[in-house]
Amino acid sequence: MAFENLSERLQNAIKMFRGSGKITEDDLKAPLREVRMALLEADVNFKVVKDFVTNIKERALGETVQQSLTPGQQIIKIVNDELTQLLGGTQSKLTVADKPPTVIMLVGLQGAGKTTTAGKLGSLLRKKGKKPLLVAGDVYRPAAIKQLQVLGEQLSLPVFALGDQVSPVEIARKAMDKAFSLACDTVIIDTAGRLHINEELMDELRNIKAAVNPHEILLVVDAMTGQDAVTVAESFNGELGIDGLIVTKLDGDARGGAVLSVKAVTGRPVKFVGMGEKLDALEPFHPDRMASRILGMGDILSLIEKIQSTTDLAKALEMEKKLRKDEFTLEQFLEQMQQVKKMGSLETILGLIPGMSGISQKLKEANVDEKEFDRVEAIIRSMTPKERRHPDIINGSRRKRIAAGCGMRVQDVNKLLKNFEESKKMMKKMQGMAKFASKGGFKM
Ligand code: GDP
Repeated sequence: MAFENLSERLQNAIKMFRGSGKITEDDLKAPLREVRMALLEADVNFKVVKDFVTNIKERALGETVQQSLTPGQQIIKIVNDELTQLLGGTQSKLTVADKPPTVIMLVGLQGAGKTTTAGKLGSLLRKKGKKPLLVAGDVYRPAAIKQLQVLGEQLSLPVFALGDQVSPVEIARKAMDKAFSLACDTVIIDTAGRLHINEELMDELRNIKAAVNPHEILLVVDAMTGQDAVTVAESFNGELGIDGLIVTKLDGDARGGAVLSVKAVTGRPVKFVGMGEKLDALEPFHPDRMASRILGMGDILSLIEKIQSTTDLAKALEMEKKLRKDEFTLEQFLEQMQQVKKMGSLETILGLIPGMSGISQKLKEANVDEKEFDRVEAIIRSMTPKERRHPDIINGSRRKRIAAGCGMRVQDVNKLLKNFEESKKMMKKMQGMAKFASKGGFKM
């Protein structure tokens, strides 16, 4: 995902810090130079970098080292705090209308990911108990209307469309009536983009804004476009006024500079980030969690949230009981793997675990990919029900038969059985964590 390079370099910069006792200007010189380079290379706006480094320096020199922290820890804390501030400080939530429906208007250039995000956002809000209506207001890009309709079908969300011969203003207005008649409390309007910003586009968006008075105008930008995304944000904010941003494609190898600069440059916060093409790959943006993720502390909170939202609670409890009684079998292992698959890519999940962010690169190098899931599934399917329930009976000749049955090597079967034992141990831990969180162990 994005930030991998930045993450590594910032961690190195922090390691370069050799101070003991009071922090001096000399102690800071080399690490801060490295921080500056790291941010510039991540495509962060020049002025933003300058202010960021100055802030760290001033704080580091100004603060007395707290007794409970070493100077090195103090620096980590300062960088973490400043990074959190840079990303927006606290989470910016969506405005909810006093009198429904809440109207959310998605704007942005063509290809930024508006239509996909409309679907993703609808699905996310429904998970939070809302009743969204998707509105096909992009009458400019061929196939955008059909695309939204298909998304709506996949997600079982209602879509309001009037074709591409009706003006978007008219569509938006009529969508309000539709929302009332369907008792939808949230309206998400997908609007047309263009390849570049132009007057025609801005006029169209201003007219829609005037017609339906949205509670949220969210600009969708593509992280891969780097500083251009920030320039686009400045224009949209100046011409139309935006309430926040959704940065898409952060799962790719974007350097991430847009996310880091946009709040400082435009004053508007990032509210969500797109982390993949799958329809559940949209996440509320938490500046503090993202900062600690970038600094390599991982983000155990996001992981727990993910586990909570995708794991069926009854199933989890049943699984937990089985784990406790030591009845966890390969059948449940398979089921559990399918749950993991639902949570997103292996890489995304690993990036969330403290200390694991570096591993995703190694995994990539070692060629461990999503296909691993399919291989495991094939091996388990090649076992008899008895073997699945009692893996300890799988001796040498059974291993050979299983391998032949699924067209794999005996080593692969051995590896799976070993992984199964390890997973059993790890899942005991994870189940404990999820239970702790569901009892309100963490505030989220
Ligand atoms: P629009 O022109 O702004 O409506 O853009 P689309 O919604 O059609 O998206 C353009 C492309 O970006 C599509 O292929 C999407 O699947 C892809 N896309 C959107 N969001 C993400 C994301 O967060 N990650 C990745 N990898 N692709 C995305």
